[in-house]
Amino acid sequence: MKNVLTIAGSDSCGGAGIQADLKTFSALGTYGMSAITAVTAQNTTGVFGVRELEVEMVAAQINCIFEDIEVHAVKIGMVSGSEIIETISKCLLENRARNIVVDPVMVSKSKYKLLRPEACKALVRVLLPLADVVTPNIPEAEELVKGTIKTVEEMKQAAREIYGLGARHVLVKGGHLAGEAVDVLYDGDRMLLFEGPRIATQNTHGTGCTFSSAIAAYLARGYAMTEAIGAAKEYISTAIAHSLALGRGVGPTHHFY
Ligand code: PLP
Repeated sequence: MKNVLTIAGSDSCGGAGIQADLKTFSALGTYGMSAITAVTAQNTTGVFGVRELEVEMVAAQINCIFEDIEVHAVKIGMVSGSEIIETISKCLLENRARNIVVDPVMVSKSKYKLLRPEACKALVRVLLPLADVVTPNIPEAEELVKGTIKTVEEMKQAAREIYGLGARHVLVKGGHLAGEAVDVLYDGDRMLLFEGPRIATQNTHGTGCTFSSAIAAYLARGYAMTEAIGAAKEYISTAIAHSLALGRGVGPTHHFY
């Protein structure tokens, strides 16, 4: 069994955050563990409150896992603020973490800021150089490159720029653009396109969390990066195709076991 750790926020309605991550890890045949950075009060209609954990508690969760259990991959999601970001980086370096997937979570679909605006710089400076792959969606990539992205060509340009910030692979996800759902992967040399069908549903809560967790699970299982992303793309497409019309808002993706 391969073991995967998510360092992320809790989503009380279970569609995104660590809950989505753990479901994905299980569905993909890996053992899931979590270090919680923040607790959100949330349902399908929005985020109603956030409490960050003390940095000592974030560090304690990560360190005691690494002291006892082999960690084959790590996914980083909602990190909330600069202090938590610095703490995570220190812990991962000290514990020689590998196969690190950074999902630069910034704003929820309901427009709630999950990353403090001043913490974006810390995320770039401290977490991107640790990332085997960083997985921004279009709004996140726009924030990282300080520009607008409306075409696949502009996604490729953004991937090159974000690669320059230190991540070993950059996956810019095109779900927010019209047309087919095309994602662009850049590894400093090759530009690869991953195409998937556009699935007509409004129930896409947690798609980013699920996709990045699926990449981490496949990396833990020994897949090379390109194969891990291809397999994760298939997983997220199926999870969206079977998403649930739960609650009064944006329902979650569905995980199969
Ligand atoms: N809540 C938490 C704790 C998250 O980590 C995320 C991740 O992106 C979200 C909410 C946002 O989910 P969505 O944008 O799919 O609503």
